[in-house]
Amino acid sequence: MHFFQYRGRELYAEDVPVRQLAEKYGTPLYVYSHETLVRHFKAYDDAYATFPHIICYALKANTNGAILNLLAREGAGADIVSGGELFRALKAGIPPEKIVYAGVGKTEDEIRYALRSGVLMFNVESSDELREIDRVAHTMKVKAPIALRINPDIDPRTHPYISTGMREHKFGIAISDALEHYRLAARLRNIEIVGVQKHIGSQITRTAPFVDAVKRILVLVDALKRHRILIRYLDIGGGLGITYQSETPPLPSDIAKRLLPLLRNRDITLVMEPGRSIVGNAGILVTRTLYLKQGEGKTFVIVDAGMNDLMRPSLYDAFHQITPVVKKNRTKIRADVVGPICETGDFLAKGRIIDRVNRGEYLAVMSAGGYGMSMSSTYNSRPKAAEVLVKGKTHALISKRGSYADLVQNEVMPRYVR
Ligand SMILES: *Cc1c(COP(=O)(O)O)cnc(C)c1O
Repeated sequence: MHFFQYRGRELYAEDVPVRQLAEKYGTPLYVYSHETLVRHFKAYDDAYATFPHIICYALKANTNGAILNLLAREGAGADIVSGGELFRALKAGIPPEKIVYAGVGKTEDEIRYALRSGVLMFNVESSDELREIDRVAHTMKVKAPIALRINPDIDPRTHPYISTGMREHKFGIAISDALEHYRLAARLRNIEIVGVQKHIGSQITRTAPFVDAVKRILVLVDALKRHRILIRYLDIGGGLGITYQSETPPLPSDIAKRLLPLLRNRDITLVMEPGRSIVGNAGILVTRTLYLKQGEGKTFVIVDAGMNDLMRPSLYDAFHQITPVVKKNRTKIRADVVGPICETGDFLAKGRIIDRVNRGEYLAVMSAGGYGMSMSSTYNSRPKAAEVLVKGKTHALISKRGSYADLVQNEVMPRYVR
C-alpha cells in the first residue's frame, strides 16, 4: 500500500501533483511519501506488538538522512553494513543499542568505531572475523557483543543476485558448522555471544522459505542451549518483497502469524532487518522524455534518468512500472525506455507496452524508493538526482541535486600533471 495514486488524470504523491514537483525541483527526481514510510514501519511494529522486538531498518536500501530521521522518530533501529552507515545512523539519532552491524568485510577501523559507539551486536560472518573482533576488542579492553550469521541453506526463490542464504554464497556460516563456530566464540575472551542471525535473500515473495529458515535456526538455538550457550537476540534478517509488477508478497503480519507461535515461551528479543519493504514502494523516480527514436520494430523512449540514477534494471533485469505523470487517451507502443548513458545496458524498461508519450512529458518509475538513490553513481559525470519528501500537501528537498563542482570536489592535482 502506498500513497502515489492518480486523481483524475494526474499522478499525486500524497496531496501533491507529481508534475508540480518535477517542475519545481527538476528531473531526474526521487519523490518519497512520508505517510507511506510511516505506514510500512508500523506494519512491522504492530505485527510484533505482543513480543519483544527491535526493527532495525536496513540502511543500504535508502540512506537519506531525512528518511532515517523519520524512522528514528518512529522507534527504528538500524542494520548497517559499513562505518559510513554507522555514521549516518548515529547522525540520525538512532540509538546505538538498536544498531546491528552486518557484512563479510568489516575492517579494523570499522570494528573499532562500532565498539566505541556501543552497537547492539556484530553479525559475524566467519571465524577470521570473529578472531579479529576479539583482537580489536582486547586492545580496547571491552567485550564485543556478537551474533553469528548462520546460513540455513534455504532457497528463497528470488533473483540469484539477491539470494544470500545458500551454501554457495559468500554470506554467513553454514548451519552444519554453526556449533563449532559458537564454541570458538565462547572461548574468545573479548567476545560475548548474544545472538544468532539469518538473512536468506531479498525480494522474497513467499512465506514458506522465510518461516522454514527461522525453524532451522530455532533448532540450532535449542542445541546451543544444551551447550550452555544462551541466545538473547534472534535476528531474522530482512528480505520481504514488494510489488513491482504483480507479485503478492506476504505482509509482515502474515509472517508474524507464523513466527510468533514458534517463539512463545522463549526468553528472547526478536530483531528484524527490513529494508526494501519499508522504502521500496514509498518512492518513485520522476524523469522527463527527451527524445523518441524509431528503431527496428520498436521505439526508444530516451529519458533523462539513466542507470546511474536507477541501477536495478541494468543490474538485476528488474521490472519497474513506468507510467505517465499526466495520463491522456492515447495509443500504446512497444518501447525500450532508455537513459542517456553510453552503455547498451542503460535501460529502465525493455520491450514494454506503454502509452505513446511525447517529448518533454514526465514519466514516473514506480517502486524506486529502495536500492534506487542508494545505489546511484555519477557515471558519465552525471550529477546525482535530487530527492524530495512529501507529507500531505507539503514537500521539501531532502537532498540537493548534485553539481558539476561536486563531480571534482575530491580530486587532487599532483604537481607532475600541472
Ligand atoms: C540487504 C540486507 C537486508 C535488507 O534486505 P531487504 O531485502 O531490503 O529487506 C537485511 N539484512 C542484511 C544482512 C542485508 O544484507
